Amino acid sequence: MKIFKEIASLKIYLHSKRNENTKIGFVPTMGALHKGHISLINVSAKENDITVCSIFVNPKQFNNSYDLSTYPKTIENDIKLLEANNCDVLFYPDENEIYPEHEITANEDFGFITKTLEGEYRPGHFDGVITIVKKLFEIIEPDNVYFGQKDFQQCAVVDQIIKRNDFSIQLKICETLREDDGLAMSSRNIRLNDEERKTVIIIPQTLFWIKENYRKYKIDELKLMAINKIISSSTSLKIDYLEIVDQVSLKPITEYEKGKNTLVLLALWCGNVRLIDNMILTN
Ligand code: AMP
Repeated sequence: MKIFKEIASLKIYLHSKRNENTKIGFVPTMGALHKGHISLINVSAKENDITVCSIFVNPKQFNNSYDLSTYPKTIENDIKLLEANNCDVLFYPDENEIYPEHEITANEDFGFITKTLEGEYRPGHFDGVITIVKKLFEIIEPDNVYFGQKDFQQCAVVDQIIKRNDFSIQLKICETLREDDGLAMSSRNIRLNDEERKTVIIIPQTLFWIKENYRKYKIDELKLMAINKIISSSTSLKIDYLEIVDQVSLKPITEYEKGKNTLVLLALWCGNVRLIDNMILTN
């Protein structure tokens, strides 16, 4: 695996590959890699001639300095994992390389999809996401990009970035990988202590429960029961949101509607660790 820390040398390398008609797959990450990230690398490796992974903990998308300073960093292990899983190129830039002085944060109006859910609870988060995703797409110019359904709202934003900038990039959304007990794999899971790790099993349990009981109750009742399930399971949990929304507009739905594809999204704090997850309810 080739490792690049500088934009210029990465661009030269990828340019030479592109001249050979090489199809490039790209998996952006913030590192602390787990099997969920690796599943994206594996899909990309199957569908492209070369796969580029980036590891960059993007400070611009953190609205909480504690979350940023405690974000796990496991670069040596990440490199081993990538090498063992058919990743061809790692882009691992320093912050100065990505954001030289005077670098500004995107401030584009993407409308409701960036204002709701994560946008509401993490002000500025999507401005940071838009800034880094655009920048990485411009540097790497991939044919295909791989994002996880785990960050469903982020996928909707990336879809808009591609459309608004006329990037010729295919967005591929990959399923969420879960631990045996159902907890979605996440870099932040490392920060949970043993007690908290047991507590957060309520997240997938509640999402699966909502899926099973979808259409059995009114939407409001279903949400209320789900919220009660979570808060009565432990006093260390604090819900940011639990919302059932339309998959395209991300607008909350209040009634069941035929033909409307929906999903439930959940964000909560367990102690000082914030976790998100979601589940498709109808396709
Ligand atoms: P992150 O490093 O958290 O920014 O994630 C990098 C990419 O991996 C994003 O597209 C995530 O949606 C995706 N990802 C994170 N967790 C999982 C998971 N459990 N299963 C599949 N993809 C994931």
